[in-house]
Amino acid sequence: MVYIVDKLKTLSTCMPYTPKPLDLPIPASEQNIPPKDQTQTQASIEQEEEEFIKNNYVARTLLNEPELPPITWSNWYKEVNWPQAALLCTEPFIALYGLFTTGFVWQTFIFTIIWYFLTGLGITAGYHRLFAHRAYEATLPLRYILLVFGAGAVQGSAQWWSRGHRAHHRYTDTDLDPYSAHKGMFYSHIGWLIFKPRRKPGVADVTDLHRDPTVQWQHRNYLTLAFLMSFILPTLISGLGWGDYRGGYFFAGVLRLVFVHHSTFCVNSLAHYLGDAPFDDRHTPRDHFITALVTLGEGYHNFHHEFPSDYRNALKWFQYDPTKLMISFFKTIGLAHNLKEFPHNEIQKGRYTMAHKELDKFGRTIAWPKGSAELPIVTYEEYQELSKEDNGRALVLIAGFIHDVSNFIDSHPGGRAFIRSYVGKDATVAFYGGVHDHNTAAHNMLAMMRVAVCKYGGEVEHIKKRLGHVQTPTPIFA
Ligand SMILES: [Zn+2]
Ligand SMILES: [Zn+2]
Repeated sequence: MVYIVDKLKTLSTCMPYTPKPLDLPIPASEQNIPPKDQTQTQASIEQEEEEFIKNNYVARTLLNEPELPPITWSNWYKEVNWPQAALLCTEPFIALYGLFTTGFVWQTFIFTIIWYFLTGLGITAGYHRLFAHRAYEATLPLRYILLVFGAGAVQGSAQWWSRGHRAHHRYTDTDLDPYSAHKGMFYSHIGWLIFKPRRKPGVADVTDLHRDPTVQWQHRNYLTLAFLMSFILPTLISGLGWGDYRGGYFFAGVLRLVFVHHSTFCVNSLAHYLGDAPFDDRHTPRDHFITALVTLGEGYHNFHHEFPSDYRNALKWFQYDPTKLMISFFKTIGLAHNLKEFPHNEIQKGRYTMAHKELDKFGRTIAWPKGSAELPIVTYEEYQELSKEDNGRALVLIAGFIHDVSNFIDSHPGGRAFIRSYVGKDATVAFYGGVHDHNTAAHNMLAMMRVAVCKYGGEVEHIKKRLGHVQTPTPIFA
C-alpha cells in the first residue's frame, strides 16, 4: 500500500496535488485592484511628502535646524567635549592605578558596594523613575536624599539629565534622540558624552522640574554636591571610620564611579541592543536579564519604553529590579506614595500584539489556498459541463468551491472510486461527515485544490459586498 507520505517523499515538491488553473477570467474585486501608490503621479507623491514634513515635528526639525558637520579624523579634536571626555576617559586609569597600589581593606570593600548602590539608586530611583518619569511621588526628605546621592553619580543635574531622557523617550531612535541607538553602540554608550552633540535634542517639557524647588536647589549646587558625594565623603567615611583614606578615595570614590557611570550608560546602549521585545518591536529597546543585572534593574527596557511612567521595570517576582524593590520599601516606610502601575489589561495587549505578530510572520511562510476573489466564478451548470470534458481533469464541488482533484485521486485514503463517483456533483455533505468527517489536514489540502467558485453554490463574499448585500454581523454578546 502506498501512503500519501511515501508518495510525497518521491516527489520534489511538498505539495504534489497542485491543481491546474481554469482558463477563465477573474472578476475585479477590492483585493485585485492595483495599490493606490502605483497609480500615483510624481507630483502627488511630492505633495504628500511636503504635507508629511509640515505635519511631522521630527521631519520638520531635522530639515530646518542645521546639523554640525560630521566628526572626522581631521576635526575630531575640535568636536570633543573636553571636560566630560577628560573625566570619562581618565577615571578608569585612576581606578586601575588605585587597584594596583592600594591594599585591600574589607570594610572599604563592603562600603564601596554600598556606595555604588546608593549613588546608583540616586540615578535609577531618583533621576530616572522619580524626576524624569514621575512614576511615583516622594516626600521632601526623600527627594533631597535621592538628589544628593544622584549627584554622587556625576551625571549632571537631575534637571539636565531628565531633559535629555525625556527627549530620548519622545524621539527614540531618531536624530532628535540625544543617545539614539541607531548611531551605534559606542555612540549611545559614551560617544554622545565625549563628543559635542551634532544637533540639539528634540523639545521636551521640563517645566515641572523648573518649578520644583528641590530640583532647582540641586541644579544650582550640582558641582559642590557631586564632588562632595563622589570623592570627599567616601574618602572621609573610610578614613575616619576605619583609617583607610586611600582605599576610600580609590575604591569607594573613583572605582565605584566607573561602575556607576557604565552601569547607567548600559541603559542607553546595551538595553537598546540585547534581548527581546515582548511588548513592541518597532523601536530598539529590549528586555534582558544581563542588562538588568548591570543597571540596578533597568534592563527590562522594552517594557519601560512602552510604559515609562510605571515605577517598575521588571514585572515578574523573579526578575531582577532592585530599584523597584527600593521604591516599594520607600512606600512601606512612608517616604513614597502613589506608585504608578499601568493596568494589567493594557500590558497584556502589548504581549498579545507581539505574539500575534510572531504568528503572522510564521503564517507568511505557509502557502494558503486561493480565496473567492482570486478564482473564476462558474454556475453549477457550467461546472457540470466542465466536468464532462475529456481532458484528464477531475472536478469536484465541495462547499461552494470547485476543486481539481485529478492529481489526488490515486492517493485518496478513502479510495479512488469514491472520489470518481462525485466528479461533476456536489460532494459537500459527503466530505463534511455524510460519509467521512475529514480532519483539518484534509480540509487544508482540499482547499489548495480550488480552481473556481460555484455561483450560488456558496457565498461569494466579495460579490455580495460589491452589490451592497453585506450583512451585519451578529453581536457575540447580544
Ligand atoms: Zn531607552
Ligand atoms: Zn526612561
